[in-house]
This record gives sequence, structure tokens and C-alpha cells, in this order.
Amino acid sequence: MIDIDRASFDVECPRCSFAAKIFYRDARLRDVLICRGCKANIQLDNHMNECRKVRKQVASAIADLERTVATLNKTIRITL
Ligand SMILES: [Zn+2]
Repeated sequence: MIDIDRASFDVECPRCSFAAKIFYRDARLRDVLICRGCKANIQLDNHMNECRKVRKQVASAIADLERTVATLNKTIRITL
């Protein structure tokens, strides 16, 4: 199982629009970041527990991928 805590994405400071890179884990834990542009405290929100929904979607996508690869394994012919 892939751990998505280290997956990163870009956000912008709501005050000064300075770009920042955050990790999924930061959002999941509703971490507070300090903007490197204006030094404001940025409270990350996990509105409606979106992080958990995303984690479920990723797990479902990986399961689909594994099923697809398993299908491929059945169709490959090996000859001597
Ligand atoms: Zn800022």
C-alpha cells in the first residue's frame, strides 16, 4: 500500500498568494504553516474530512491498477 502522507501539492497563501508546497499529511493533521512570503500563520483545513475521501479514492485506484496488472499477467505468453 502506498503511503500518501508524503504526496505533496502546491497551495497559495490566502493573504499574499505566495506559493507553498504542503504534504498530504499536513492537511490531514490540519497543520499550521508559516507563510514564507508574509509570515502569516496559515491554518490548513480538512473540510468535510476530504483527506479521508482522497485516501479512499487512491486506495481504490491502486486496487484497480493491481487488477489490471493481474489481468495482464494472465495474457502474457511465455515460450521457450
Ligand atoms: Zn503570505
